[in-house]
Amino acid sequence: MEIATSADGQMATSDALALVAAKRRKRSRSRSRAELVTLVLTDVDVCPGEGWNYVFGLARAVDGAAVASSARTMGSEAPDDVRLLFKVSAHEICHLFGLKHCKRYTCLMNATNSLDELEAKPYHLCPPCLRKLAAGLGADDDALAARAVGLGR
Ligand SMILES: [Zn+2]
Ligand SMILES: [Zn+2]
Repeated sequence: MEIATSADGQMATSDALALVAAKRRKRSRSRSRAELVTLVLTDVDVCPGEGWNYVFGLARAVDGAAVASSARTMGSEAPDDVRLLFKVSAHEICHLFGLKHCKRYTCLMNATNSLDELEAKPYHLCPPCLRKLAAGLGADDDALAARAVGLGR
């Protein structure tokens, strides 16, 4: 399967995620090669599909796969800050573990529609989202919360 880009150079995340999902299904037949989640990193600008605006990343939890693009965060016309790509990646991976967008607190899981919003939101989860992540991972949330205390420093 070829992943097409539009005339303005954008790649549809739906195409990329469909390709990744097909590869994941093939690999998951062999338990030793099964993956928990798959994150695609690209420098190509991405959009959800034809006629949509750009996105920094997109996740499809049902397929366990996500895309994060550096097109708007790195390079000559962008802040050129790799930490922003890490922020997008962490946000998308959290979606894969069941987290939705957070509207109550300043949080890594806040939705972002602009570079300013992406830069402004923190690298860490708010306490309720951290608790949801811990529950989704089946982890000891007290241990996760104790580790998270240091993340803001
Ligand atoms: Zn999101
Ligand atoms: Zn939150």
